[in-house]
Amino acid sequence: MSNLTASDLIDSLKKKIQKYSEAQVEASFIGKVVKIADGVVSISGLKDIAYNEMVEFENGVQGLAINLEENTIGAIVLGEYLEIKEGFKVRGLKKLLSVGVGEGLIGRVVDPLGNPEDGKGAIKFKKYNPLEKIAPGVVARQSVNTPLQTGLKAIDAMIPIGRGQRELIIGDRAVGKTSIAIDTIINQKNENVICIYVAIGQKASRIAQIVATLEKYQAMSHTIIVTANAADSAALQYLAPYAGCAIGEYFMDEGKDALIVYDDLSKHAWAYRQISIILKRPSGREAYPGDIFYLHSKLLERSCRLNKEHGGGSLTALPIIETQAGDISAYIPTNVISITDGQIFLESDLFYAGIRPAINVGISVSRVGGSAQIKATKQVAGTLRLDLAQYRNLAAFAQFSSDLDAVTKKQIERGSRMVELLKQKLNSPMPVVEQIVVIFAGTAGFLDDIPIGKISEFETRYLEYMKLEHAKLLKTIEKEQKLSDETIEKLKKAITEFKKTF
Ligand code: ATP
Ligand code: MG
Repeated sequence: MSNLTASDLIDSLKKKIQKYSEAQVEASFIGKVVKIADGVVSISGLKDIAYNEMVEFENGVQGLAINLEENTIGAIVLGEYLEIKEGFKVRGLKKLLSVGVGEGLIGRVVDPLGNPEDGKGAIKFKKYNPLEKIAPGVVARQSVNTPLQTGLKAIDAMIPIGRGQRELIIGDRAVGKTSIAIDTIINQKNENVICIYVAIGQKASRIAQIVATLEKYQAMSHTIIVTANAADSAALQYLAPYAGCAIGEYFMDEGKDALIVYDDLSKHAWAYRQISIILKRPSGREAYPGDIFYLHSKLLERSCRLNKEHGGGSLTALPIIETQAGDISAYIPTNVISITDGQIFLESDLFYAGIRPAINVGISVSRVGGSAQIKATKQVAGTLRLDLAQYRNLAAFAQFSSDLDAVTKKQIERGSRMVELLKQKLNSPMPVVEQIVVIFAGTAGFLDDIPIGKISEFETRYLEYMKLEHAKLLKTIEKEQKLSDETIEKLKKAITEFKKTF
């Protein structure tokens, strides 16, 4: 008897709840699209919507609220925006946008929403991470103390990058910015670093080329590509870096080391400017909305090195910025320069003079990476910076005088050889031990009597010789991470021996 009453009660309760939730669904579809342009919509009538909350249109397509005003909200459409019409109903979803993360993404090319772009089928996600996240606080962080080897002699020796650091790559069009990032990714093959390459507003053909290069050097097995192409909506281009960062954070939180490349943040700023102009937000310098600085600093702040208590993972960021005619005082370049821990400046003059990578060593810096450099590199590269600095000054000066004293001449000779030695072919990152013995040969003066035109050949054959005849010595350097007096003597002897055969 009492049982019956209970089930009756439950039944009536269920009915009541059903009624209530039906009413809820109806009531929540209260917004209306009032304007739509280029994937950006204005919605009226939606109340209680939070910044970055997801919304759903009546045809099931989703959007993201990014602009809140008194009577309307601005949202970007995540998907087919051409199907959305004025007058469509909209409701808030009470959740933030998130992207699928996990090991399943490794080796894949995805769009900023995690949809595969490589035709290799569905991806298994471990979990979902929010695109926007507050960066770890200082308490969770640890200072940078492990190098991130780029495999590029000029960078590892003079502008070293540490794991968890944010180093900007900046330069004009087509000076090798992307190439530096790609070579760094290739070099992580044996370094146990998961790489995320975020392509923003690039041509699809260029992405295909990058994927092919990474595959050729077996680098896709530790790499994820997140891409929003030039043909994609500004909304997707705007979201791409956050999606990449959320994916990178997954690996950092797992205690792993990850590297993220944002190629490039200039195009990201353009996409955001485009969205903001459609939304009629007040624009500031160079027509960018006032919060673009906040946007980029918030993004880059998420890269860091976590301390032991938080798993010890790291996320290193290599943002890329394109300048116009070398103007680094434009709005976006100055912003990002001030946010990052250093910059690698690339110059077209150097690039066209055949100095590639076209790094201007004089004005490139790494503010924290030095503490992460291994001792052996410091030992050989300490004098390298000095040699090059003196060389630059003297070379400029020497243009005006014909009779140079012997010392000056010698310094110029040395400097021009070091410049030659630091050139590096595309897609051929060099292990740190090889870098050390190569740079040692230069700074210790063993190249002074080698004609400049023969330096590159010398380098190749010298390395072959060392690997063949002195493998043990290379192993010692790798193990000790420094050059003891004994090692230095052995190195000198080996180079002298080799030079007899050159
Ligand atoms: P964009 O502004 O178009 O993005 P970018 O600055 O990223 O250009 P890359 O695409 O990396 O430049 O390189 C431009 C060209 O220079 C490419 O064709 C590349 O092959 C060549 N290049 C880059 N680095 C080197 C190098 N170290 N040695 C020889 N060629 C190089
Ligand atoms: Mg590029």
